[in-house]
Amino acid sequence: MSDKILQLIYTFSKKFKDPETNLTFEPRNSNISATVKNGNVNIFLMMNGNIQDKYKKILNLLKEDIEQIPGVISVNIALTSEKKSQKTEKKFNINAKNIIAVASGKGGVGKSTFSVNLSVALKTIGMKVGLLDADIYGPSIPRMMGVSKKPEMNKYKKLIPVENFGIKCMSIGFILDQEAPTIWRGPMVMKALEQMFNGVEWGNLDYLIIDLPPGTGDAQLTLAQNSKLSGSIVITTPQEVALTDARKGINMFKKVDVDILGIVENMSYFMCDNCNQKHFIFSKDGAMNEAKRFNVPFLGKIPIDKKLRQQSDEGRPCCIDDPDGQISRQYLSIAKTVDKLIIN
Ligand code: ADP
Repeated sequence: MSDKILQLIYTFSKKFKDPETNLTFEPRNSNISATVKNGNVNIFLMMNGNIQDKYKKILNLLKEDIEQIPGVISVNIALTSEKKSQKTEKKFNINAKNIIAVASGKGGVGKSTFSVNLSVALKTIGMKVGLLDADIYGPSIPRMMGVSKKPEMNKYKKLIPVENFGIKCMSIGFILDQEAPTIWRGPMVMKALEQMFNGVEWGNLDYLIIDLPPGTGDAQLTLAQNSKLSGSIVITTPQEVALTDARKGINMFKKVDVDILGIVENMSYFMCDNCNQKHFIFSKDGAMNEAKRFNVPFLGKIPIDKKLRQQSDEGRPCCIDDPDGQISRQYLSIAKTVDKLIIN
C-alpha cells in the first residue's frame, strides 16, 4: 500500500518544477524525498535560493494533490535548503584567473581527450593554460599530451609542471606509485589534490583545466569545496547509460554550488568515408536534449573519429596535429564559447 502511495506522490510531484533550477521534483533529480508510514506522508523539498514564496505555492498545490490519494491520512511537506559552500575557506590556492573542472558521469566517454583539446584551443586564442590531470583512477593526460618526463622540484620544494605545446601539465599520476591502491579514501584524495595545487609552481595562468576522475566521488567534492572553481563542463556521449550518470554529475555540481558552463556531446556521430553519411552509433542528440532539460548551455558536438583517437594515443592532440581540421575547429569554437561564458 505504502509503495503505491509513494508512486502516486511522485506522479503528482513530477508536475512541478523547481522555480530556480527548472528541474522537475522527482527522485532522480534528488530534490525531493518522501516517506509513507501507516498512511502518514512526510515529504522534503529541496529549496534553491531564498525565494520561499515560490516554493510555498508548489508546496500547497502538491499537498492538495496528495491528500486526494486513497489511504493517505496526513501530509506533511517541509522545505529544506543546503548551506552554500561559498563561505567555506578555500584551501587550494593557485594564481589562475579561471579554474574549470571537466567532468563526466562515466569513464571512457572522452573527458581527457576533451580536456587536452580544450587546453590547446584556449592556448590558441592567446591564453596561458595549465592542465591538471586529477583522474586518480586512470591518469592519461601525460600520454595524450606527449609528456614522458617527470616534473622536477624547485628550490622551494615545489613541483615544476612539465610543459608541452605551450601548456603546463601536471598529473596526479606523477606522484602516485604504480602500486597505489585503486580504492582511495577521502583523506588520501584530499592530500594528493592539495599537493597538485599548493605543491606545484603553476605561475600565473588564465585557465587551469582540471581533468576530473569520472563519477561523483571524493575528488569532485574536495575540489568543489577547496578550490575556487569558476565552473564545470560535463562530457557525455548521447547514449542513455552515459546520460544517466552525467545527470548525477550535473546534480552534484548544482548541490555544491558550482556553475555548469555547459554540456559537450562526444562521439555524437560517425562520418562514414564510404557512404558519406553520418551514423548515430550512440543515439542522437541525447546530450543536447539533456542540456535543454537542465537549462544549461549546450557547448557542441564532437564526432567519433579514428584519427582523433590515434592523435591522442600518439601524444599529439588533434588541435596541434591538424589545427585547421573540422574537429579542431569545433574544439576552438567551444573554447571561445567557454571564454565568453566565463567573462559574462
Ligand atoms: P575518459 O577521460 O572519459 O575516460 P578518454 O578521453 O580517455 O575518456 O577517451 C577514451 C578513449 O576513447 C581514448 O582511447 C580516446 O582516444 C578515445 N576517444 C575519445 N573521444 C573520441 C572521439 N571523439 N573519437 C574517437 N575516439 C575518441
